Amino acid sequence: MKDSPMKEDTKIVRAGRHPERFEGAVNPPVFHASTILRPTLDAMDAAMSAKGKVTLYGRRGTPTQFAFEEAVTELEGGFTGFSYPSGLAAIAAAMIAFAEQGAHFLVTDSVYAPARRLCETLLKRFGVTTTYYDPLIGAGIERLIQPNTRLVFTESPGSLTFEVQDIPAIAAAAHARGVKVLMDNTWASPLFFKPFEHGVDVSIQAATKYIVGHSDAMLGTVTTTEACADAVQMATQVLGYHTAPDDAYLGQRGIRTLGVRLRQHHINGIALATWLKNRPEVKKVMHPALPGDPGHALWKRDFTGASGLFGTVFEAGTRKQLAAFVDGLVLFGMGASWGGYESLCLPSHPEKVRSVTPWDHPGPTIRFHAGLEDIGDLIADLDAAFARWNAAK
Ligand SMILES: *Cc1c(COP(=O)(O)O)cnc(C)c1O
Repeated sequence: MKDSPMKEDTKIVRAGRHPERFEGAVNPPVFHASTILRPTLDAMDAAMSAKGKVTLYGRRGTPTQFAFEEAVTELEGGFTGFSYPSGLAAIAAAMIAFAEQGAHFLVTDSVYAPARRLCETLLKRFGVTTTYYDPLIGAGIERLIQPNTRLVFTESPGSLTFEVQDIPAIAAAAHARGVKVLMDNTWASPLFFKPFEHGVDVSIQAATKYIVGHSDAMLGTVTTTEACADAVQMATQVLGYHTAPDDAYLGQRGIRTLGVRLRQHHINGIALATWLKNRPEVKKVMHPALPGDPGHALWKRDFTGASGLFGTVFEAGTRKQLAAFVDGLVLFGMGASWGGYESLCLPSHPEKVRSVTPWDHPGPTIRFHAGLEDIGDLIADLDAAFARWNAAK
């Protein structure tokens, strides 16, 4: 066993688990702790001066949190990792780690909208300027790099419009100028895209989505290379981030089924997207695993699977038609977030959250999350919805 590296499914089961430390318990126990006592002055001094992750004070992390962070780090393939009370908190920590007065950030125009808001509010006020770039820019990012550019923020595919980014090309251009590459890797989860094998320096997960996987706990993670570890750790500590032990526990528990869940999301997502593509009411399907999708070649080159989240643009219709479509859905819920076991359908407005790549479609943009339900039942639900859409004309 020693010489053969563990396969992914085995890592999923083992990562971050240390039963020998916890009376043999299979799962890391939930430690609720603020004060951590030390018996002697020597022990206290040793704890205070220890490097890396030690239980020193609850805010700095518990064994439950460290177990979760260790598991995510191993699956993402990074050097070390940190966890946060939400995915957005993780994005904020990662950006702030590289922010300074006068710094310049390059952020994909397809970015998760609250990350853009962070750049346009607090970071702007602190003297950081942001240029948004076409997600399909690839090596052309080179032209936008300024002497004060500190990071290129990527999200691939974008979680509303599903453009696949050429991460290796972006990373090569950024690294040639000493610029770090951050990636929101939530869509693929740590399983279907290996950020550090593609040149990413800092990988972010909204663990709220697939890692937790059950639409309950909120969590975020940042995994880094060795070179970026100190900057991210410092930002995380000075901002006072802390991960609740019950949520860290749910995060590590979600990991154990990530492989089987994602394989089913992949199958159901492709089946639903393919069925929608053949509907006359649907103008465009945005799913990189479908042949013919503009991002298909890059997806095939860099990813090992697809999650259950994809987009569509319907033919032009009225608000009444859209209401008829979504209001009567039985199996598809309507609401924010995704990555749980349940299917979702969310009308979205990319045109409101872009600044350099216009989104101009007469029909509504509708995002689907393929859950783990029976695919025939899901299709029947959508078939009935299209009948309502057409009847409401
Ligand atoms: C949901 C989401 C986030 C933010 O995660 P929260 O846990 O909701 O704060 C970040 N990026 C992407 C792509 C997301 O979908």
